Amino acid sequence: MAISKESLEKRIQNIKHQIGELGDLRPGALSKQYNICGSPNCRCKATPPIKHGPYYQISFTRHGKSSSQFVREEDLDEVQQQLEHYRHLRQLVDEWITLSAQLSSLRLREKRKAARDQIKKPKSRIPK
Ligand SMILES: [Zn+2]
Repeated sequence: MAISKESLEKRIQNIKHQIGELGDLRPGALSKQYNICGSPNCRCKATPPIKHGPYYQISFTRHGKSSSQFVREEDLDEVQQQLEHYRHLRQLVDEWITLSAQLSSLRLREKRKAARDQIKKPKSRIPK
């Protein structure tokens, strides 16, 4: 057998622990933008233009609804860390699902094998 039940259980335990340790999180992708304003004589209309910004924005989809939100420059580090935590969570959950399905298959196989063994020698199971 490629992977033992114990090693799968251990890896799942490890994932649960890591998830418990994750800090604040936030879904989405961060983007940086430069804008042009409405005043005709502004520096953003010069040649070459000096646009306004940068502005930082996170875009995300929750329950099928897309939204975006501006992020202040002083909050950038914090928000970036939250985005990173979210990515990490998704990655951990994905790994957990894969390992859990493998573990389930192993357990079901063991259960069938135990049931077969019991049928083969029923007398040994009955106490005297
Ligand atoms: Zn302007």
